[in-house]
Amino acid sequence: ETTDIQALLLSRIRDVPDHPEPGVMFKDITPLLADPAAFAALTDALAELTVRHGATKIVGLEARGFILGAPVAVRAGIGFVPVRKAGKLPGATLRQAYDLEYGSAEIEVHAEDLSASDRVMVVDDVLATGGTAEASLQLIRRAGAEVAGVSVLMELGFLGGRARLEPALAGAPLEALLQV
Ligand code: AMP
Repeated sequence: ETTDIQALLLSRIRDVPDHPEPGVMFKDITPLLADPAAFAALTDALAELTVRHGATKIVGLEARGFILGAPVAVRAGIGFVPVRKAGKLPGATLRQAYDLEYGSAEIEVHAEDLSASDRVMVVDDVLATGGTAEASLQLIRRAGAEVAGVSVLMELGFLGGRARLEPALAGAPLEALLQV
């Protein structure tokens, strides 16, 4: 069954066919961000999961994971750490490559922002193939930190991201507020 909050969130996500390329149904969260009640409800729901799973840091995935993850970190009273596309962060980084449908990509994190005493919740808007989230979990573990879980607004179930993430999660939860 669908809760009132889920119905509100779903009503503020716009489906854009064939963006950024033919065959992709893009989930556009900008209407949700522009609605303060919906954005607050999303922030509260993600912060509740973050606190429940005992996280000490939020990792947000570029770029929409920054928009969602930063207010969640403030609400939960913990720090925010950006995982960026390679080449953007100025300090000493850990870098992780991962496969895309065509080719590969690399993400980075500032090594000094995560430590062995951290439990990290990864936040993003959409879980699609799970490749980006999987690479972020590898970065978190390489930094010596523990994984508290992955929390997303929407999981695109038909892309199999949950199964792909399972080994990297190693028992940590994947939380999706909405399933498609
Ligand atoms: P993936 O690594 O395949 O799970 O894709 C992860 C990134 O791509 C996420 O950060 C999403 O923001 C974005 N993404 C992938 N597919 C979609 C989609 N259909 N709609 C919106 N964003 C998407």
